[in-house]
Amino acid sequence: MLRVAVVGSGPSGCYTAQSLVQRNPDVLVDVLDRLPCPYGLVRYGVAPDHEKIKSLQNTLRAVLEHERVRFLGGVQVGPDSVPAARLRELYHAVVYCVGAATDRRLGIPGEDLRGSWSATEFVSWYSAHPDAVGCAFDGPALSARTAVVIGVGNVAVDVTRMLARGATELNPTDMPQAALTSLAASEVTRVHMVGRRGPSQARFTTKELRELSVLPDTQVIVNPAELELDPDYVDPSSLPAAQRRNVEVLRGWATAPPASARHRIRLRFFLRPVELLADGDRVCGIRLERTEPDGHGGLTGTGRYEEIETRMVLRSVGYRGVPLDGLPFDTDHGTVPNVAGRVMRDGVAAPGEYVAGWIKRGPTGVIGTNRPCAKETATSLLEDASALMGKDVPEDPATALRTEGCTPVEWSGWQAIERAEAALGASLGRGVVKLPDWESLMTAAHGSTPPPGARGTARQAPTDP
Ligand code: NAP
Repeated sequence: MLRVAVVGSGPSGCYTAQSLVQRNPDVLVDVLDRLPCPYGLVRYGVAPDHEKIKSLQNTLRAVLEHERVRFLGGVQVGPDSVPAARLRELYHAVVYCVGAATDRRLGIPGEDLRGSWSATEFVSWYSAHPDAVGCAFDGPALSARTAVVIGVGNVAVDVTRMLARGATELNPTDMPQAALTSLAASEVTRVHMVGRRGPSQARFTTKELRELSVLPDTQVIVNPAELELDPDYVDPSSLPAAQRRNVEVLRGWATAPPASARHRIRLRFFLRPVELLADGDRVCGIRLERTEPDGHGGLTGTGRYEEIETRMVLRSVGYRGVPLDGLPFDTDHGTVPNVAGRVMRDGVAAPGEYVAGWIKRGPTGVIGTNRPCAKETATSLLEDASALMGKDVPEDPATALRTEGCTPVEWSGWQAIERAEAALGASLGRGVVKLPDWESLMTAAHGSTPPPGARGTARQAPTDP
């Protein structure tokens, strides 16, 4: 049998496992994750009110319950726990599907002031990511009246929508109780979502954009004069269909009559952030420079500025891959150099090392994009199978991991977490409610708290799409 480790149990990891076992009956796959819970960004990134996308967990579940696939959660691959070199000894092949683990920086003064967060911190908090427990959003953060979201991608739309949602709509979701309570008490009623380029270059998708206008008691406002700075807005005929649809939706909002609503979402364009303004160590505003298109899809500054008063800034300017222990890294793109998923070292394919998902191609595309991406990597791996089988590996890598002090959370442990989350929800009069911290997750998974210092339970930044 060919033993493969897939590192990361998000969509790219699960689709890779699926492709491998479906196409070759002699493959056994262990899907490793540093968290005790599977599904990566489907669990910890997709917004809780996106139930339909969340239901993809059922598809991923079927993969992880396949008879030749095994989930091993709570296993941290890295120098302090299971080094990549050790993993290579335990398996014929390793596929890294670890996503893009950090957020891009703006690189402007004031970015680290209190009150300025990356959107991914906010997402992790309301998604109950165990690394986000105790995050400042539980405190006075949401007492700001005005929030500014920087960026016009789908994550910006998600966090904007979550800021405008009320408790009634969030109560049926699996959002952790503390986040639900905080958002229910939130005083944020005005959200400015700011793009540095024009409406035809925005990265959000039309379906997600449209959802903003169907939020209860919410008006979306766009300024026609600002939209008209974009020549492709004025004449969208040459735009690809996806951008043209965005433009059409924005055009409709720009001409809508004003209405009275508790929440106002203002979409702004051609404004680039130049500085977050400080009141002591806290953000109190943002300075933006008016930009204009440079005729080549880029922008130039005009030297005209405006300021928005705000005590809450969410920077939603994309994710970025981080270097992995023992693997080459392309710092320009934040990816592992690869050809069709084969990791390249100094221009040569490294035997038995593969990548799929965002760490392979960068943080773009919707969840479904990971399926063909994973298939390509699985094809490369299966083409190499006979050469890879030449290596001796232990009968059962999980036994070796346990002997070496790792305490993997197996599928039964994850099912115990699911039962604990259902019980928590029932006790609160809600549906399933996520456990928000490491201790309660590990206690549920193992039936007791694992011994302190147990390997494979390290706490680090969120990974894995
Ligand atoms: P994204 O789509 O790459 O959007 C990033 C946004 O940040 C862009 O508007 C970009 O503007 C802007 N930006 C980048 N650097 C900036 C800077 N220095 N100053 C000002 N603005 C800056 O990233 P994302 O929203 O994080 O989404 C990541 C991926 O996940 C995307 O493929 C997205 O579609 C996907 N996703 C999908 C869903 C869904 O399907 N429901 C939900 C969430 C995420 P420029 O274009 O000018 O660079």
